[in-house]
Amino acid sequence: MSEEKSLNFIEEIIESDLEAGKYKSILTRFPPEPNGYLHVGHAKSICLNFGLAQKYGGKTNLRFDDTNPEKEETEYVESIKQDIEWLGFQWAEELYTSDYFEQLYQLAVKLIEKGLAYVDDSSSEEIAIQKGTPTQPGVANTYRSRSVAENLQLFADMRAGKYNDGEKVLRAKIDLAAPNMLMRDPLLYRIKRAHHHRTGDDWCIYPMYDFAHGQSDSLEAITHSICTLEFVPHRPLYDWLIAQLDIFPSHQYEFARLNMSYTVMSKRKLLKLVNDNIVSGWDDPRMPTISGMRRRGYTPKAIRDFCERIGVAKRDNLIDLSLLEFFVREDLNKKADRRMVVFDPLKVVITNYADGQLENLSAENNPEDADSGTRNIPFTKEIYIERDDFMENPPKKYFRLAPGQMVRLKYAYIIRCDEVVKDEAGNITEVHCSYLPESKSGDDSSGIKVKGTLHWVSIAEAKHIEIRLYDRLFTAEDMDDTEGEYTDYLNEHSLQVIQKAYAEPALLDATQQTPYQFLRKGYFILDKNSSPDHIIFNRTVGLKDSWAKEMKK
Ligand code: ATP
Ligand code: MG
Repeated sequence: MSEEKSLNFIEEIIESDLEAGKYKSILTRFPPEPNGYLHVGHAKSICLNFGLAQKYGGKTNLRFDDTNPEKEETEYVESIKQDIEWLGFQWAEELYTSDYFEQLYQLAVKLIEKGLAYVDDSSSEEIAIQKGTPTQPGVANTYRSRSVAENLQLFADMRAGKYNDGEKVLRAKIDLAAPNMLMRDPLLYRIKRAHHHRTGDDWCIYPMYDFAHGQSDSLEAITHSICTLEFVPHRPLYDWLIAQLDIFPSHQYEFARLNMSYTVMSKRKLLKLVNDNIVSGWDDPRMPTISGMRRRGYTPKAIRDFCERIGVAKRDNLIDLSLLEFFVREDLNKKADRRMVVFDPLKVVITNYADGQLENLSAENNPEDADSGTRNIPFTKEIYIERDDFMENPPKKYFRLAPGQMVRLKYAYIIRCDEVVKDEAGNITEVHCSYLPESKSGDDSSGIKVKGTLHWVSIAEAKHIEIRLYDRLFTAEDMDDTEGEYTDYLNEHSLQVIQKAYAEPALLDATQQTPYQFLRKGYFILDKNSSPDHIIFNRTVGLKDSWAKEMKK
């Protein structure tokens, strides 16, 4: 990647705004609705909003967009804060749209006073019909010509709880013939008796997104309000409200949302996976949530690098999951200590190694990190290797263990297979090998070179661990382009559990946040449910690196 990156379109706008002296400094915001856990699409928005502020010496507010009382919970607020901090960002102020309910109410009153809003008694069905269609203008109902005084009274009565839910709404009075349907007298307030996670039962009317969002931006003096492309048609309304109310001129800019292959990224759909127990929770390591990715062992740096690399687009596109995995490997390769773990054991007896002998072989923790130190690996007469590292009748160019063939045991010796032992049914139960004493790792005096190097563990010293291997959650590459229910496309093999794998003892130095590379197997991290009696490791990502080529271009 070249060092001098060209500016993205939002950076261009900010630079020209700053040059023109439009703002002294910039203020962005990240405005999650606390109705679920954050996913990697939100990470994109976080990296963008916080990243721009950092780059231009500005600030970013965290604003919880909590205007839908039924769906919102404090648990989500806490998880969102944790995820943003984990990603490495700090907000200037923690704010809530609900803190502005009184100010928003007063702004609505101001619109009524200017003759620009009215109380409508129509049902939502009637309103939809009266709005017309994109090719047919809407028609005004009698409520549209209510006087300012009557509207002020009715709106106050709505607030005071005189009407039932849905009985009345407050609408902006704009243009029932506008080509943009959102400008045909959009709803500003609705009546909803619902307990709010912060304001309790103080309010029975709640502002609609379009009224709350832009006005909150303005109340905070947000300079650049960045959102995703589906809000393009809302921009005229955003601008209209700010102009009519004559409040701080925040501006809205839109970029393409992040869509990733083999997953879904709507909180509603993710919530259903949680509620239906299809996954173990919001932080299930298969989930595209930030908490799932954290539990799986993805690093904040990998996610940030990924977001930086995909940039800001103006058109929707589908990003390959393997690009994110590429950045995870890049980061972990430098950070992860190496360990040996055998998943499917085959017993190897080294016949010329003394019974009861134990050598502590010293091995570096991470060849990519000179400061990572060393560990001891016990070597004994009986070891496990991976069952699929042995073949009784191998094809040509098979460099792993086979009768009469030699391999190197990583960090240890060269061994040769002398005998295959089978049970009565003909299954291979163990193989007998001899080792070359002068071939110890680092000692070339045997003069023998072998092509295959295997990982292994001492049977007597090995620790038992459970391994969880994860695969993509869905089977369709572009989940937005599928028919039927998204749950029809769940990958049945997204979780594979290996109940008993065998690990070298040094693995148990692991603490929650320590990533490891299991040689030839991938990157792994201790799961949050692991305990000393039941050790569980999650596979973060395998070693295969199909994106490396792409990235070097
Ligand atoms: P979802 O559809 O997953 O519920 P949302 O847009 O309703 O997402 P919000 O909590 O409203 O979720 O989003 C907070 C911010 O994150 C918004 O500015 C939104 O535009 C942005 N965002 C949400 N999803 C994505 C995505 N996939 N890519 C980029 N930004 C996103
Ligand atoms: Mg939303």
